[in-house]
Amino acid sequence: MTVEIDRNSGFCGGVIRAIDGAEKFLAEGGPLYSLGAIVHNESELARLRAKGLVTVSLDDISSPSPESLSGDASRRTLLIRAHGEPPETYRIAKERGWKVVDFTCPVVLKIQKSIREARERNAPDGQIVIFGKIGHAEVLGLVGQVGGDATVVENLAQLKEAIASGTIDLGRHVDIFSQTTKSPVEYEEICSYLSSRIADKALLSIHNTICRQVASRHKELAEFARSHDVVVFVSGKESSNGRVLSELCRSVNPRTYKVGSASELDSSWFRPEDNVGVCGATSTPKWLLEEVAVQIKNLH
Ligand code: SF4
Repeated sequence: MTVEIDRNSGFCGGVIRAIDGAEKFLAEGGPLYSLGAIVHNESELARLRAKGLVTVSLDDISSPSPESLSGDASRRTLLIRAHGEPPETYRIAKERGWKVVDFTCPVVLKIQKSIREARERNAPDGQIVIFGKIGHAEVLGLVGQVGGDATVVENLAQLKEAIASGTIDLGRHVDIFSQTTKSPVEYEEICSYLSSRIADKALLSIHNTICRQVASRHKELAEFARSHDVVVFVSGKESSNGRVLSELCRSVNPRTYKVGSASELDSSWFRPEDNVGVCGATSTPKWLLEEVAVQIKNLH
């Protein structure tokens, strides 16, 4: 059996930037509190926790004297992760005296700005539509740019429903954006449908906001999955990108298995003559891919 790790898998630039920043900060003596999990990967979170990174919620930072937090309140520093946050979060953090280190991915910052500009440009009738996962941190940050006045659709069926119910009015201008990690194929399908329903093309602006790193990974990953007998996809359960990419692998290779760590591997998935490919999401650390690859080799 041969085992190959996908050289394009591993953290995206935004996640690398946030984790590097957190590690540098912690090395200088911390403490550091991350608003939400810095990365959707349990193993990497445990590694960073051991270095002193504490994950907190919006409730924690909103509370005047959060019981769950220890240490001197005046030394508390809040890390904003790559997903970004709505303006409201910065306001609350400031009000509660938190020092903020902002690692919002520059790509996400640019989309947040485009959404604000779209709102200004097409006011007062313009509508903002976001193709993304309802409740996902990045999406909440995007929606927050226009005070929550945006329609989020997770798929084509929800877009059709929103049009049918009048939530999206096709007689008024629509600006559509995508969460950075969504499937480029699905976004194209959604935009084509919207375009087919709007006769006056001046009423539709399609913003190409899928992260380039994600879009190119889709093509390369499909090729990688196709060229191996078995694919082991490594990703945390909470990773939205992990779900999308593992489904992509399964669509081209039915012998695709998704695991969170090496302990979830099952020897019955493999045959001695198999050529196994190990890959992961933008939130999967390289060291975890290597750990899984070593364990697969040890199974036979
Ligand atoms: S997927 Fe792209 S946009 Fe999202 S955090 Fe990573 S680099 Fe930034």
